[in-house]
Amino acid sequence: AKDMGRNTFQFYQPEMNTSVGARLNLERRLRRALRDNEFLLHYQPQVDIATGKIVGMEALVRWLDPEVGLVPPSAFIPVAEESGLIGPLSEWVLREACRQNKAWQDAGLPPARVSVNLSARQFQQRDIAKLVMSILEETGLAPQYLELELTESMIMRNAEEAVVMLNELHALGISIAIDDFGTGYSSLGYLKRFPVDRLKIDRSFVSDIGASDDDETITSAIIALAHSLELQVIAEGVETSSQLDFLRERSCHEMQGFFFAKPMPHDAIPGLLQQGMAA
Ligand code: C2E
Ligand code: CA
Ligand code: CA
Ligand code: CA
Repeated sequence: AKDMGRNTFQFYQPEMNTSVGARLNLERRLRRALRDNEFLLHYQPQVDIATGKIVGMEALVRWLDPEVGLVPPSAFIPVAEESGLIGPLSEWVLREACRQNKAWQDAGLPPARVSVNLSARQFQQRDIAKLVMSILEETGLAPQYLELELTESMIMRNAEEAVVMLNELHALGISIAIDDFGTGYSSLGYLKRFPVDRLKIDRSFVSDIGASDDDETITSAIIALAHSLELQVIAEGVETSSQLDFLRERSCHEMQGFFFAKPMPHDAIPGLLQQGMAA
């Protein structure tokens, strides 16, 4: 498996569903990976196309398995979730993202927020706000530079609990984004009840701008909804200039996607923060 390189995740995925033995094996290797520090973060810029400035970056975890190379999160997050390893892994991601962002700011780079994906499991932990607070204190990152991304299904699974936890998180001064917006839940009432700052339009709609009238309608409706509720809105998965134009015409000014940049190693970020990315 050594020289299969970065495609090796195709080798992991069947394994996750097939045998218990294989799953336990992956679990054992994930445990070792945590101990040996084999995880790393890539960052994908979020651009304000009105100014060209990078206003944020999403932290995306990867596993650098010494035997097989870079493994994408789809190949190990599900097993990490099932095995309880997601707790320590998510804590590492949160701490590393905050630490790195503070280091960039300390180096004099233009400040931007960092977005961290929360797992469903992590969001079931009652003391998540306490953890976030202690990591902010420990790293010295100002709360307005941290955003957490949650999905609608995570919130709606237990809405009573979620409203309490989101209020606690929001009270820290961090922001909350709804990831994959439009794919999850049909009732929009929760947007009023929950302290949500930003809607992240799911890639499945954005990618079919120019190809599907329905997806264009949904995209336009989400942007309009965000504006009328005075929420921020960002489009993910922007790959073409015509998608960009469509979004810009409807006043969706923040965008993320391969058109601007793929997720990249931390050392590529300072240059981008410095220069911006005019579209
Ligand atoms: P997500 O949160 O929806 O992250 C966006 C995914 O879309 C990333 O995949 C990113 O590389 C990809 N992407 C970004 N722009 C484009 C584009 O223009 N075109 C296309 N085709 N794809 C684009 P990635 O890094 O493989 O992450 C996959 C998923 O794994 C994430 O989906 C997220 O749900 C999860 N994930 C990643 N990092 C973490 C983490 O630290 N913790 C948790 N709990 N989940 C994570
Ligand atoms: Ca995300
Ligand atoms: Ca997403
Ligand atoms: Ca679609």
